[in-house]
Amino acid sequence: MADISWSDRFAKVLIDRKVAQTDVALRFADIFKDKVEFCEGDPKDIQRGVLSGEQFTQSKKQIHLTEFAGSFFKKCPGFHKGLACCNYYVLNLGFQCDMDCSYCYLQSFINSNYLTIYTNIDKALDELRSFSDSMKDSPVRVGTGEVIDSLSLDPLTLYSRKLIEFFNDYPKWKLEFKTKSALVDQFLDCEHAGNVIVSWSINPQYIIEREEHGTASFTERIQAALKCKDKGYLVSFHIDPMIWHPEWKNNYAVLVDEICKNFTPSDIPVLSVGALRFQPQQKNIMRERFAMDSLVTQAETFVGKDGKLRYDFELRKEMFDFVMTRFKSHDPAWKIFMCMETPETWNGTLGSSPHRQSDLKEFFKPLKKPDSDIRYPISDI
Ligand code: SF4
Repeated sequence: MADISWSDRFAKVLIDRKVAQTDVALRFADIFKDKVEFCEGDPKDIQRGVLSGEQFTQSKKQIHLTEFAGSFFKKCPGFHKGLACCNYYVLNLGFQCDMDCSYCYLQSFINSNYLTIYTNIDKALDELRSFSDSMKDSPVRVGTGEVIDSLSLDPLTLYSRKLIEFFNDYPKWKLEFKTKSALVDQFLDCEHAGNVIVSWSINPQYIIEREEHGTASFTERIQAALKCKDKGYLVSFHIDPMIWHPEWKNNYAVLVDEICKNFTPSDIPVLSVGALRFQPQQKNIMRERFAMDSLVTQAETFVGKDGKLRYDFELRKEMFDFVMTRFKSHDPAWKIFMCMETPETWNGTLGSSPHRQSDLKEFFKPLKKPDSDIRYPISDI
């Protein structure tokens, strides 16, 4: 386990008594010792609903361990009319993130003042197993980093190890960890089937320092990716969200050059780029928490068809063109797609939608519908 003083990072850990004997809860109890309290059901001081900035910040400092009662699988948030999206299943093993990016969409989404970790990962694996008969040979992709970072708390939960082991039995499926941490040591010794992608959302160090509080530095993320590559894991980078600032060209050029210095297109099956976007209702809490010092709260944005605020089309296109051209100038074999973007941007930047790009088509192929009632993400564009 990485040398982290976990106990200093959280104010308290509340464990639901009914999960107190699970491996995860016992590990938390051991690590957090006098910060641990037990509860029956919800914590007594839980606050639900729209959170103030202060309550949201508090929710990153107190952990609640409990079971998840519902279905673990849901559609990728890109599955909306008007957005191009890749085929993807989302597995949430918790809710809230211990890091603190100024633009984080969780600010418009989290409705409890606790960071929740679900202890019943075995139920999630059972759900996956339940549709494996009909989907075993399909190119299923499962990602774990939607409403909780895949790896930033993984040295505590060790969920990566269970998932990697499970995916050994499904070599045609892909498991994706998505993170802004550099915490990979806890699973590097696992045997894997070559179907695990460890991916980093990455930005220039200038943006990381200003906007991505509590995350690993640019160099730490690259170093962690190299460790994974050395152990045969697939790695990927999401240059997302690109954030405009006066030196953006220079800083994103350095980022692209560093990736190309350390990795080749064959190391990284596909890269993605995305630009700053957020829900209008997020503006107030971002201003409350980060004032106007942030490049995000200062950004000039416009409402898109999906209701999110984005930079204007020309600026997004310029930013994507710049990054893509820089990658292709290093090696034309780099494959780059735009995540959560409109068909107009795809057409404006690459000349056609991802379904028609020969090097990207395979990532957007509709999946066969499973026999179970799991909802599945098929782009309707
Ligand atoms: S790492 Fe991701 S989930 Fe965590 S605060 Fe940043 S944007 Fe949000």
